[in-house]
Amino acid sequence: MKPQVAVVGGGWAGCAAALTLVEAGISVTLYEASRTLGGRARAVELKNMTLDNGQHILLGAYEQTLQLIQRLRPPTERDGLWRLPLTLDQPPEFRLACPRLPAPLHLLAGLLGARGLSWREKLAAARWAHAVLHEAHSPDLLTVSQFTRSQPERLRRLLWHPLCVSALNTSPETASARVFADVIRAAFGGRVHHSDLLLPRHDLTTLFPAPAAARLRELGGDVQLSSRVTSLDAAGDAVTLETRTGKARYSHVILAVAPQHVDGLAATVPELASTARDVAGYGYQPIATGYVQYDPDFQLGRPLLALSEGPAQFVFDRGQSHGQSGLLAYVASAASDLRADWLDRAEGQLRRIVEPGSSRWRESIIEKKATFACVPDMARPVVRTAHPRLFLAGDYTAGPYPATLESATRSGVQSAGTLLEQL
Ligand SMILES: Cc1cc2nc3c(=O)[nH]c(=O)nc-3n(C[C@H](O)[C@H](O)[C@H](O)COP(=O)(O)OP(=O)(O)OC[C@H]3O[C@@H](n4cnc5c(N)ncnc54)[C@H](O)[C@@H]3O)c2cc1C
Repeated sequence: MKPQVAVVGGGWAGCAAALTLVEAGISVTLYEASRTLGGRARAVELKNMTLDNGQHILLGAYEQTLQLIQRLRPPTERDGLWRLPLTLDQPPEFRLACPRLPAPLHLLAGLLGARGLSWREKLAAARWAHAVLHEAHSPDLLTVSQFTRSQPERLRRLLWHPLCVSALNTSPETASARVFADVIRAAFGGRVHHSDLLLPRHDLTTLFPAPAAARLRELGGDVQLSSRVTSLDAAGDAVTLETRTGKARYSHVILAVAPQHVDGLAATVPELASTARDVAGYGYQPIATGYVQYDPDFQLGRPLLALSEGPAQFVFDRGQSHGQSGLLAYVASAASDLRADWLDRAEGQLRRIVEPGSSRWRESIIEKKATFACVPDMARPVVRTAHPRLFLAGDYTAGPYPATLESATRSGVQSAGTLLEQL
């Protein structure tokens, strides 16, 4: 059978996989269950505005994702992302800004110049960061809380633990120290721009999944929206997929669904039993995004601010990043015990710093299974399965990053590459 590949799942992993295959000259059909591409990083329409299912932020180290985004944008429109040198601004208590020096000097200089830390705390932070960057610790089975135990309490509270929650979406008490150390090394151990923060300037579907689908169609590929794959038969010399409109046969299939959806499709394929077992053991963590519209003239002093004492860790100014004047997005990660009044309390956190005035409307989106809980010693499957025609892609597959856009796009490109090698 001539190679004909189906990619199941139109999140960032599936879009990256489908794009890689079609650009290699392979016939591809992308199936997405919902009406919108992007999965857990997609546009939503709310209050006659295009918002996101959750405010996202990217790191300069997300090289695969950045390359895909930039490559698909027309040369005249290269402003899809707003690049900011790393600054953690939590007024009035704390501010860390990394100057443009070669890495990791920029982090060391940032820590030594941080506002709100004593000299003892600054030196302790710089020494610890240096040890992590030089892999002096081997934190394989530790949690982040155990890993940071030697650090002064204020440093853990102001810096390391908020970084852990926002990067791994898992509380320091249960988060994997190894993955946390990998993120620190990726951000601060390479080039100076790897620690930059990148804010989307467009909704998340426009940023990558929509241009990827447009390119796919341009090259003869097919994108089927509102097409949930309900079963998969891989017993013969092809793989048959079933949707509500009928059955179709493919030479190969990339399963690019979220880990909690693997089980339903893997049930009929004995070769996927070990993958299904791995993901059955996962826990999940929510992320809440609260959109609050204030007077359009209101803006924050910076495009994003860190907030202390929960429930939100960050507030983003969508007026500055997206031109949505007066609209703020409050983000609460690892939000497993979020109370019904969380957005009132998040607004209270901001009011301790600045008075935004009264709100005109407020909407909260809670993604209950935003990411897998990134705990020590997780079983993360590789993209090649025991079945020669079936491959995996998704943020949960084996890789150095926690559940992020980068782990999704890397896995998609890698899965497509592994499939191509096999042809
Ligand atoms: C609120 C929120 C905030 C986040 N913030 C950040 C951030 O700031 N930075 C960052 O890097 N990451 C962040 N993440 C994580 C990031 O969004 C995910 O890691 C990434 O989007 C996962 O992509 P994926 O393609 O692996 O999976 P998904 O996005 O889950 O894609 C899977 C797709 O498969 C589809 N599907 C499922 N079953 C079927 C089926 N049977 N047939 C057809 N289609 C099917 C689904 O509809 C979905 O579109 C955040 C996530 C959330 C939810």
